[in-house]
Amino acid sequence: MPVKGGGALFREVGKPLSIEDVEFPDPKFGEALIKVRAVGVCHTDLATIDGEFPPPPLMPTILGHEVAGEVYSIGEGVRDIRSGDRVVLSWLWHTCGKCYYCIRGNEQLCENLIETGRHVYGGYAEYVLAKATHLIKIPPNVPWEYAPAATDAIATPFKGLRVAGAKEGDVVVVWGVGALGFNAIQVAKSKGCVVIAIGRSEHKLKKAKEVGADEVINSTKEDPVASIKRLTGGADVILQLVPTDVKTYEQAFYALRKGGTLVMLGYPPGKMCLPVIEWGLDEKKVIASLAFTRYDISESLRLLAQGKVKPVITTYRGLDKINEALNDLRRGKVIGRPIILM
Ligand SMILES: [Zn+2]
Ligand SMILES: [Zn+2]
Repeated sequence: MPVKGGGALFREVGKPLSIEDVEFPDPKFGEALIKVRAVGVCHTDLATIDGEFPPPPLMPTILGHEVAGEVYSIGEGVRDIRSGDRVVLSWLWHTCGKCYYCIRGNEQLCENLIETGRHVYGGYAEYVLAKATHLIKIPPNVPWEYAPAATDAIATPFKGLRVAGAKEGDVVVVWGVGALGFNAIQVAKSKGCVVIAIGRSEHKLKKAKEVGADEVINSTKEDPVASIKRLTGGADVILQLVPTDVKTYEQAFYALRKGGTLVMLGYPPGKMCLPVIEWGLDEKKVIASLAFTRYDISESLRLLAQGKVKPVITTYRGLDKINEALNDLRRGKVIGRPIILM
């Protein structure tokens, strides 16, 4: 029997989400129906609602791709999870496992990717349908409100550090102190790195210190490149998270030490202009890291279970708070990630 429940439908660009009764189908072969317990409110969703991102192929849709919940029912052929299991579901609703990218361990680039909240209904709802293969179990000691972070806000910086090859003793600069930045600081500290955080607001930089940054730089008061050079001689790895200002990506290039790696994680519009000779002679690396794989999600859950990362979150009770959470995010009022707790 299909179940009925509330869902926040995205019907029109620029309009608030509309809470309506939705019928959630029974899970088919290999699928599971999840009762949502907590869902992260992501900037990507805000950009989609505000029309800065292209509209989802499925309209109207239900956004929300940072989901933690309880397995409500399972379809045929599902063996490794059962009703009542605590699981997370990410943006990777389904990856094919057989394309060029999947078989090389880069499922985030899957040619047949089905995206949660864009191609199928996502988690701003009481229930969400999922592929059992793409659900990952939550360790018992991780609370509901922390679990969604593993599906994006920890996994994204975790993968950034992984592809940069960050190791103990490296100087890691976290450029941008939003939800991902606070987690990035903690992941880098868990690897034994020296961490410098850069931001523009004093209270967010104070929080960055609280979660473990060794040094903080307010880029409205001092030149971040000169300060990084003065403090460390240059960064081994820079996680560049700034979503709006492409100039900061060029600045980050100059703040690297020889052989250092700039990882692009935020994607502001515009072009970077870099000096080829310095780039070559100093062997600097400029790389992009898109999202994460299921491996990064399970490692993020492990860091949560070990208490090595405590996500910075603001909780909202109930699905009907979704528009309030989105508004607060839009106005930059939230510290860390807004989490809707059902
Ligand atoms: Zn997200
Ligand atoms: Zn694939």
